[in-house]
Amino acid sequence: MTPEELVAAYGSPLYVYDLDRLRAARRDLRATLPEEFDIFYSLKANPHPEIVRALRTGEGGCRAEVCSLGELAAALEAGHPADRILYGGPGKTTAELAWACAQGVREYSVESLGDLRRVGEVAGAHGVTVDCLLRINSDSSAATTSIRMTGTPSQFGIDAETLPELMPQLRAVPHTRIVGLHFYPLSNARDEESLIAEFRQSIATAARIEADHDLPVRFLDIGGGFAAPYTVPGDRPVYPKVRAELTDALDLHFPQWRTGTPQLAVESGRYLAGDCGELFTTVTNIKTSRGRTFLVLDAGINTLGGMAGLGRLLPLSVSVQRTGTDATGKATLTGPLCTPGDLLGRDVTVPADLVPGDIVRVPNIGGYGLSASLVTFLSRPAPVEVFVSGGEVVAATRLETSRVPVRA
Ligand SMILES: *Cc1c(COP(=O)(O)O)cnc(C)c1O
Repeated sequence: MTPEELVAAYGSPLYVYDLDRLRAARRDLRATLPEEFDIFYSLKANPHPEIVRALRTGEGGCRAEVCSLGELAAALEAGHPADRILYGGPGKTTAELAWACAQGVREYSVESLGDLRRVGEVAGAHGVTVDCLLRINSDSSAATTSIRMTGTPSQFGIDAETLPELMPQLRAVPHTRIVGLHFYPLSNARDEESLIAEFRQSIATAARIEADHDLPVRFLDIGGGFAAPYTVPGDRPVYPKVRAELTDALDLHFPQWRTGTPQLAVESGRYLAGDCGELFTTVTNIKTSRGRTFLVLDAGINTLGGMAGLGRLLPLSVSVQRTGTDATGKATLTGPLCTPGDLLGRDVTVPADLVPGDIVRVPNIGGYGLSASLVTFLSRPAPVEVFVSGGEVVAATRLETSRVPVRA
């Protein structure tokens, strides 16, 4: 179906996800890694159960990494067995842990001694012992990236240098088994060298922790950082050297890795989900104000990239399907919300002959799209999300938010 047909059928704005592209991303990420690796899909990027299910099923299926009860529900709805889900996050509450544990989640990434103790208490109350990965904040960092969370003070992870003092207490927490280590030092790595440097550092740090603390690392999650274009055209990066570099680092530090000691894993959200999704949005109005052209769209920060409303402008670019002149102009792109913060881009290059009613397309928005937006702000209905496979629409849903009465 053409964008016009899809929008006619499902309305505008409209998210369209191509599940074949999603599976292609998974294939490419698999090919980037030694085959011994598990891949966790981080639901944060896009928790829609159709996405999660497509990544779970078929050859090379991913496991699920979740950080909230909503994400857990989505993973379960998508068919993940609870005991294959990894539950993480820096602020896990007793109530949420109790729910996760009751659902059968048996693997947790823990970020501090207090966090581990809470996990242990809840597991004990359920009469089970659960597997825990210690998330480590390494004492230095190897690379530069857009989003960094290691080597500096952070709510994430246990500072590596505190392990000598903490380890006896960590080990003593009842109803927990420390089965391995979790690293997540960066997102959206700038280049392959950064990614490799971080992976090498995490693997070396894990080996050092194993030796220094006599802690058998049975599971090693080295995190991710696989990049993807976001709201701009372009292809996912390729990482031709990662596989050999990982093999080399693992041979050096974990000689038994090929026989499953440790079991290895990476995590990815944006690389897997990013390029399968596109947003179709309609030009509602075009106006000129004091020499500047404003393109008012029916999608604002309630529909994509809500972080733009926090002063972080997207590097957005749009394209249109229609043929016509090749002339382009510059415009300020806004959404329909009654706030000057509803700004999607300044000086965006657009076709010069756009008219209200035209559909413009925002590419590479399969990750951190709708779920990262200010969906409830200004109380507009959420857009429909359509899933396409083999050129056919296989599912379409609309996210509903509603208020329900609550009694104290
Ligand atoms: C956000 C996050 C991810 C996913 O990041 P991407 O850049 O989307 O791949 C994975 N693991 C953890 C712990 C995260 O916080």
